[in-house]
Amino acid sequence: MNMADSSILASTLTTRGYRRVGEEKDADLIILNTCSVREKAEDRIYGRLGEISKFKRRKPNLKVAVVGCMAQRLGEDLSNKVPHVDYVLGTDRLFELPDVIEGIEGSQSVMTAFGHENMDMIVPIKETPYSGFITISRGCDNFCTYCIVPYVRGKERAHSADYIINAANEMAAEGVVEITLLGQNVNSYLYEDVDFPELLRRVATETDISRIRYMTSHPKDLSRKLVDVMASSDKILPHIHLPLQSGSNRILQKMGRIYTLEHYLKIIEYIKSHLEYVSITTDLIVGFPSETEDEYFQTLEAVEKVRYDSAFMFRYSVRPGTAAAKYDDDVPEETKIRRLNRLIKLQQEIAYEQNQREVGEVRNSLVEGFSRRSKESMRARTEGNKTVIFPTSENLTEGSVVPVRITAADAFTLHGEIVEIS
Ligand code: SF4
Repeated sequence: MNMADSSILASTLTTRGYRRVGEEKDADLIILNTCSVREKAEDRIYGRLGEISKFKRRKPNLKVAVVGCMAQRLGEDLSNKVPHVDYVLGTDRLFELPDVIEGIEGSQSVMTAFGHENMDMIVPIKETPYSGFITISRGCDNFCTYCIVPYVRGKERAHSADYIINAANEMAAEGVVEITLLGQNVNSYLYEDVDFPELLRRVATETDISRIRYMTSHPKDLSRKLVDVMASSDKILPHIHLPLQSGSNRILQKMGRIYTLEHYLKIIEYIKSHLEYVSITTDLIVGFPSETEDEYFQTLEAVEKVRYDSAFMFRYSVRPGTAAAKYDDDVPEETKIRRLNRLIKLQQEIAYEQNQREVGEVRNSLVEGFSRRSKESMRARTEGNKTVIFPTSENLTEGSVVPVRITAADAFTLHGEIVEIS
């Protein structure tokens, strides 16, 4: 979502006559679009602001803007704490940055009030000439107890299905082959009587986009209808990111996740039995307040049962302002680290085994360029959102979709060769 927002802001500024430069030292304006989801993300912004202060000393007219979630969370406090920050614009206000810089009436250097967002400014954005993001909804109404997002991104609001379909068709006309429909919780999308499965069905049948992804899902809202729609169209790529967070029902309840492990496993069973091939990924937190060793083992057991293709795994850290910040953060740090390390090890073993199951299969993959190591190999993304590396083939350009036979795999990457089409 932040990548999409940054691109929208960059494009707005370009339209207003600003020019992107390659290095910070050449810039007259530096914008940091920030994340608040973990303390570490905010610490990194403070570190970057420290580096930027050196540029500002050398170039006093340099303007510095902090926008997005951290700006929303801290507002005036951020501007007081870091005086060389000129503009602090929250999640509903960041697209007003050009007005603020130009001193347009009514604009202020710190703006964080909700309810000012103009959804027309949340335009679809090309990530590359061949792939793009379409934000279908913003904000979240869920209030999971550990999460700051609803406080910094506000209530959920959505674009109409017609807007999204027009946007996808415009992108397709410009050569985009793959789009990602974005929302904090796409499964709760509702605009008039169109829900997310219906939206996805319409995007698949009423647009010329050939590869459609979406993120992110909430297990309480992911319906069988959605899985059936995915099964009905080859254009909807078989990758589902479904955050589990914990395998313990007591911890899930304390997290405010509103589903049980049994419910989650039923969805997984339905997904696996209705999609011929699917890659399932997740988010997991260990060391949530009061998590016992037994409850942690329930998470390990759940991971073994589901067999994720990959996972984002974290040890719990307190986010001030959330409901969970009032809980006693009583799992010792060394226990959190031990639990996380064991979970990562288990997940890596499972990812390795999952990737071995891909060997011998042919995956239609979107070429993203040369591999990071050498121009003798190319990098592409499979339907299941995995990176595949294969020998460079002449005349193959970024954005091509090619069938790649998987010949080997480790826990993180697939290796393969292009299947010649007769
Ligand atoms: S669903 Fe929960 S974890 Fe996800 S953004 Fe909303 S509050 Fe945060």
